[in-house]
Amino acid sequence: MSRETRPQGGLLDAGLEGLSHNFLTGTLEELVKWARKHSVMPATFGLACCAIEMMAAGGPHYDLARYGMEVFRASPRQADLMIVAGRVSQKMAPVLRQVYDQMMEPKWVISMGVCASSGGMFNNYAIVQGVDQIVPVDVYAPGCPPTPETLMHAILTLHHQIGTGHLTRRPGEGAGIVIEKAGPSGPVPVSLGGS
Ligand code: SF4
Repeated sequence: MSRETRPQGGLLDAGLEGLSHNFLTGTLEELVKWARKHSVMPATFGLACCAIEMMAAGGPHYDLARYGMEVFRASPRQADLMIVAGRVSQKMAPVLRQVYDQMMEPKWVISMGVCASSGGMFNNYAIVQGVDQIVPVDVYAPGCPPTPETLMHAILTLHHQIGTGHLTRRPGEGAGIVIEKAGPSGPVPVSLGGS
């Protein structure tokens, strides 16, 4: 606004009429959510065959870059999305939780495939029967394996959740399941990250 056309009492006194036509207004909360959902950075974390489809989704054909998330971060401290791609063994569960604990807040989890979501066909003692026993899951992508299109649908669903959810939400600690290992005098619980 030029000095000549500026209202005498200043911009605040003039209200919205004092703004030029090329101004946008919005709440800070909406702007932060908009920026957040378009800059989600996934951690590099593939566990089994589902990870091949996850890698395909990151390639040029499916082009995750258009969602502002082209780089799979090699450090959990630079990531805020964990895509659990594949079955989670009992041995891997504490490692998965530690990686999750090292990720930035706010952070999100997509459970990719039936194995990660429920153990799938591996209904046995070696496989965790659902990764939501270890970390809180935001979106489940169904299938064996889910196609890149299914994963992208899960990512867009997560974007919608981020855009409509609470700004300062802190996720829970999972379902509180205890993982045990053999000790000298019987099974002892395995520490899951900071819990
Ligand atoms: S859901 Fe299917 S593709 Fe994915 S890890 Fe399990 S067996 Fe492999």
